Amino acid sequence: MGTWLNINAEQGLLGLFLFFILGIIFGSFLNSLIYRLGQNISLVGRSFCPACKKILGVFDLIPLFSFIFLKNKCRYCGQKIGWQYFLVELATGLLFALTFWQHQAIDLLLFRNLFFVLVLIFIFVFDWKYYLILDRIIWPALAAALILNILSSKPQAPGTELWAMGLGLLIGAGFFGIQYLISKGKWIGLGDVKFGALLGVMFGWQLTILVIILAYVIGGLVASILLISRKKNFGEVLPMGTFLAISGVIAMLFGQQILTFYFNLLGV
Ligand SMILES: [Zn+2]
Repeated sequence: MGTWLNINAEQGLLGLFLFFILGIIFGSFLNSLIYRLGQNISLVGRSFCPACKKILGVFDLIPLFSFIFLKNKCRYCGQKIGWQYFLVELATGLLFALTFWQHQAIDLLLFRNLFFVLVLIFIFVFDWKYYLILDRIIWPALAAALILNILSSKPQAPGTELWAMGLGLLIGAGFFGIQYLISKGKWIGLGDVKFGALLGVMFGWQLTILVIILAYVIGGLVASILLISRKKNFGEVLPMGTFLAISGVIAMLFGQQILTFYFNLLGV
């Protein structure tokens, strides 16, 4: 039973709304980070239109609303703004609200989970767009996950114990590391090996195994759909990090229920 820490149903709804708003603001920040790291430009400085370079004003930067009211065009030069901006803001808002709803308490573990949502959405989009998982994201995220897990470790949060993280790291990095070595980097990139290590530290060994299995199931489904609809040809590579990131979010939100369901099936 989760505790609402004296949050009643009405405050729960207010919380959903507030965490959605917080999420779209962070989603807007993620879009900027993805753009700046993708173009290799400075992380500081004011936002500007990629086409006409005009510095954007406050009303151009309101998450979700600017995109809708400006009809996904730059106000100054008319250049189309990609749907990614809107979708990342919306997805971050929805996942922040869902994370709050599912966790049912305001504590360090909730903020750890919100941080994980941001890391996973970043890797999802960046690997999809650039086929790249950046060291500049992986290593700071790994250090932060380690610290957050140590600080929030308690019996109700399996996978946060040091040994569980260590075993997760070995499984995550080992599973992809072996494929990397056997295929000499053809099946799997070094970024996936590092992401495997990060997932191990974030989720501990049990959920890391679940994340890997889910990633192959989802990746297989998406690949089949793309092949049937002839959007991709056989042998074209899909970004593994993207599927691992989706699976990470699913495992974070529903992993314990999935594991419990599975062990009940087995009668363990
Ligand atoms: Zn413009």
